[in-house]
Amino acid sequence: MLGTMKPTNSITKTISHKLKNISRTPLSSSSIPKEKVDCLVIGAGVVGIAVAKELSVKHGREVLVVDSAPTFGTGTSSRNSEVIHAGIYYPPNSLKAFFCVRGKELLYKYCKDHEVPHKQIGKLIVANGLSEIPKLSALMTRGIQNGVESLTMMDSYEAMTLEPELQCLKALWSPSSGIVDSHSLMLSLVGEAESHGTTFSYNTAVIGGHIEGNEIQIHVSGSNAIANWNGRSELDSELILVPKLVVNSAGLSAPAIAKRMKGLPNGIIPASHYARGCYFTLSNTKSPFKHLIYPIPEVGGLGVHVTLDLNGQVKFGPDVEWIEGIHDIPSFLNMFDYSVREDRAKQFYPAIRKYYPGLKDGSLEPGYAGIRPKLSGPEEGSTDFVVQGEDIHGISGLVNLFGIESPGLTSCMAIAEHVAAKLLK
Ligand SMILES: Cc1cc2nc3c(=O)[nH]c(=O)nc-3n(C[C@H](O)[C@H](O)[C@H](O)COP(=O)(O)OP(=O)(O)OC[C@H]3O[C@@H](n4cnc5c(N)ncnc54)[C@H](O)[C@@H]3O)c2cc1C
Repeated sequence: MLGTMKPTNSITKTISHKLKNISRTPLSSSSIPKEKVDCLVIGAGVVGIAVAKELSVKHGREVLVVDSAPTFGTGTSSRNSEVIHAGIYYPPNSLKAFFCVRGKELLYKYCKDHEVPHKQIGKLIVANGLSEIPKLSALMTRGIQNGVESLTMMDSYEAMTLEPELQCLKALWSPSSGIVDSHSLMLSLVGEAESHGTTFSYNTAVIGGHIEGNEIQIHVSGSNAIANWNGRSELDSELILVPKLVVNSAGLSAPAIAKRMKGLPNGIIPASHYARGCYFTLSNTKSPFKHLIYPIPEVGGLGVHVTLDLNGQVKFGPDVEWIEGIHDIPSFLNMFDYSVREDRAKQFYPAIRKYYPGLKDGSLEPGYAGIRPKLSGPEEGSTDFVVQGEDIHGISGLVNLFGIESPGLTSCMAIAEHVAAKLLK
C-alpha cells in the first residue's frame, strides 16, 4: 500500500516537478510560480485525511493534501492511545463533547463497513480514594448530559469480577469505549480519498501565506529546502498555491502556520502549548486486563491509564510533561523529542499500582511518546477544540483547526463533517 504515497495526478506531478526543478536562489514574490487548486488541506494526519475524504467522496471536490513529512500520519495521529472515547469527559455543549459522541458513531460505522481493525472493549474509570467517588459521579452525570449511553456505576466487587487484577472502591463502566488501529484507519481513508481524486503531496511544507484580494495564497516549499535553511536569510517559498478552500489541519504546527499568513488577524490565533505524554509497556507479560482502565483525569491529561492494542498487548500512559522552546521550522519538520527516558518509570509505578497493585518491580519498559497540541498552559485549565472559519477571521474559504488534542482521533470524521459544512454552506 505504499503506492498511496506516489504522485497520482497532474497536480502532484506539477508540484513535485516544480519543487525539484526550481533554483534554490532567493526568488522575488513575483517570480514564484503559482498553481490554482480547488481545495487544499494542510496536514495528512487523521483529521486532515478525514477532511480530504469528506470533501472528495461526499462533496465531489478536487482536493490536494500537502504534508511536510514523507508519508501520512507521522505526527500525533500515530502517537496516541488509539482509544475510541465515549464522550464522558468534556463539558456539555463543547465541541469536544459533540464531536466525540458523533465521531464515535461515525468511526464505529466506518470501521465496520471498511474492515478497519477495531474492538468495542469497554472502559472502567476507577475511583481509588473516598475523595474520588464524587468525581466519578460527576463524570457519570457529565457523560449522560453529553448523550453517552449505557453508563453504569459499579461497586468494587462488580468491577473486580470483570477485571480480577483491578483494585478500586468504585468504577464507572463505559461499554461504548473501544480501540482502533489508527494506521489502518488512515490507510483506508487515504485510499478512499485517492480513489475519489484526492492527491497527496508529501515532503511539501507550508511556510506561510497571504491574502490578496479575494484570494488565499499559500506559500509552500520542499521539506528538504527548509531543512537546509540557514536561519539567517529570508525563508522563500518555491511555489504559491491559490486554492478556493483551505483547511489548516497541521496539528502541532497549525497555529504557527496561521501566524505566518499575512492578512489573518493575529489576535485571534491562540498561543500554543505542548504537553508530551510517554507510554511504558509490560515486558514479557500477557495483559492482566481485558478492558481499558482509566483513573480519574488529572490536569493536562486523562491520567496514566491502561490501554490495549488489537493484539492484546498492554501499554500504560500517557503522563504529562510540559515542553517549551518549540520553533516553527523544526515543528514543521516534526523534529520533536519523542524519546522516553527510562527514569520516568519511577512515577509510573505508584500511579499504576493505585489500581493495579500486582504490577511487579522492573516490569515496565519504555514505549513511545506523543505530544498534545494544547491551547492552555499547565495552570490554565482545559480548552475546547477551536474551529475558526470566516465568522471569526473574516476570510472566506479558510478554516483553521487549533488544539485538536484528545479526543481528536475519535472525532476525526465528525470534525470533517463540520468543516465541510462550514466551508460549503
Ligand atoms: C499522548 C496522546 C494520546 C492521545 N490519545 C488519544 C486517544 O486515545 N483517542 C483519541 O481520540 N485521541 C487521542 N489523542 C489525540 C489524537 O491523537 C489527535 O487529536 C489527532 O491525532 C490529531 O490529528 P491531526 O490530523 O489534527 O494532527 P497530526 O496527526 O499531528 O497531523 C498534522 C500533520 O501536519 C503536518 N504538518 C505539520 N506542519 C506542516 C507544514 N508546515 N506543512 C505541511 N504539513 C505540516 C504533520 O507532518 C502532520 O502529519 C491523543 C493525543 C496524544 C498526544
